[in-house]
Amino acid sequence: MTTTHQADAVVDYDEALSRFDPVMGLEVHVELHTNTKMFCGCPTEFGAEPNSQVCPVCLGLPGALPVVNEKAVESAIRIGLALNCEIASWCRFARKNYFYPDMPKNFQTSQYDEPIAFEGYLDVDVDDGSGGTEVFRVEIERAHMEEDTGKSLHIGGATGRIHGADHSLVDYNRAGIPLIEIVTKPLVGAGARAPEVAKAYVAALRELLRALDVSDVKMEQGSMRCDANVSLRAKTGEPTSAEQLAVPLGTRTETKNVNSLRSVERAIRYEISRHAAVLDSGRSILQETRHWHEDTGVTTSGRVKSDADDYRYFPEPDLVPVAPSRELVEALAATLPEPPAERRKRLQNDWGYSDLEMRDVYNAGAAELIEQTVAAGASPAAARKWWLGEPSRRANEEATDLVSYAAGIGFTPATVAELDSLVRSGRLNDSMAREVLSGVLAGEGGPTAVADAKGLELKQDDGALEAAVDVVIAANPDVAAKISDGKVAAAGALIGQVMKAMKGQADAGKARELILAKLQ
Ligand code: ADP
Ligand code: MG
Ligand code: ZN
Repeated sequence: MTTTHQADAVVDYDEALSRFDPVMGLEVHVELHTNTKMFCGCPTEFGAEPNSQVCPVCLGLPGALPVVNEKAVESAIRIGLALNCEIASWCRFARKNYFYPDMPKNFQTSQYDEPIAFEGYLDVDVDDGSGGTEVFRVEIERAHMEEDTGKSLHIGGATGRIHGADHSLVDYNRAGIPLIEIVTKPLVGAGARAPEVAKAYVAALRELLRALDVSDVKMEQGSMRCDANVSLRAKTGEPTSAEQLAVPLGTRTETKNVNSLRSVERAIRYEISRHAAVLDSGRSILQETRHWHEDTGVTTSGRVKSDADDYRYFPEPDLVPVAPSRELVEALAATLPEPPAERRKRLQNDWGYSDLEMRDVYNAGAAELIEQTVAAGASPAAARKWWLGEPSRRANEEATDLVSYAAGIGFTPATVAELDSLVRSGRLNDSMAREVLSGVLAGEGGPTAVADAKGLELKQDDGALEAAVDVVIAANPDVAAKISDGKVAAAGALIGQVMKAMKGQADAGKARELILAKLQ
């Protein structure tokens, strides 16, 4: 069954951008992968039997008292430091009161006006429109600690949503898992690139969190979730001009749980087009949450957004304040990994990739894989070629990322390095190596085993190759004459014929050498 949504009017994106300036705010929730929950000792493993990882604290039973997870606080501080934030020397948790069945306490223990980290930034690379990259600074307002809610399952309806369901079940295993919410300031000055900046920011943040080793950051499993706020204001000049920056912000909508990088970009693009249509018609934007629909590429209205007042925040009386010492903060600062932007520059330099090649590698999520493949002995060029070829195509086809795809079928950096070594040793040529790769991806075994089973091996018989070269030269006197005249590029046509004559069982490089040696 397909879901139907009342179609909203939208304005063509470029047209919307000719009259409006978009402003965004991104809220990213990250589940920490601590062994235990935020305020109790329950385990946090994903996918356990429902309600098997609960206790009186995370079920909110009367009289149960929470205790803060030290590891989670340390992770929060490390995240704050990596985002160039200031770290509070003293801060408290707060109760955010609202009623929902997946939240057994009827309040969420969160932080409100005293976040653990605040006033930071993350620099992200975006396309400068002419093949190079440009840095966009995303200002961070705060990163605060809180706990996750449980999960409702709606049974009996066709869509899995609450509407039309017979009954609902609640799994509290997720209730109390430590979350860090990272909130940006309103991001201005991106203009038409706003959706691209948002995607680049979430990608850079994910890379940073992965490097910090604080979370699984799996958007498809919900361990990283993004809410995208968008508003439009009248366009008065260039996005970064003083007159434009002086225009007051418009009313925002908040699109919830946008769970892939691609959706972040699409959802923001859509909201910009939809806001423009509402504003054009003379109506005003309602401050509300919206739901993103991956299948139809639209958002639909959620609930009218509560103001902070409605949550009746107050300081959590059952927890002591968090007051990290200078020494602790300094010790944690010393554990930070190489900043991803610097790491990227270093790797690009080591590998000799162009900006464009490096961007493709990052877009494909292949940097770590290539690093490990090079460490296993492959050349950087070969590592890039193999990972960005067939495996990336298949990962895309299966709508998953390269790392998960490769892990799922046991395709490792060592496998790629082995394939490369078969090419470098002269056993396989390029087209044979592709055939071997297909076999490996199909689960037929490792590269050497697949090459053995398929009988793939370059004939090392130089006599046969030389004979084929002679035949081809004799059959193409005009091409041969050009090569003799110094038009080396013409050799390509002869190499092709030699390879054909050898039924692909020859080394193209060697054929080229022989042709040039005979004609020059
Ligand atoms: P909420 O409680 O609604 O989630 P938050 O403060 O957590 O509020 O997040 C709001 C997000 O929206 C922040 O990233 C903020 O910078 C951004 N924001 C605030 N006002 C606007 C606006 N007018 N247009 C776009 N984004 C905005
Ligand atoms: Mg928020
Ligand atoms: Zn518990």
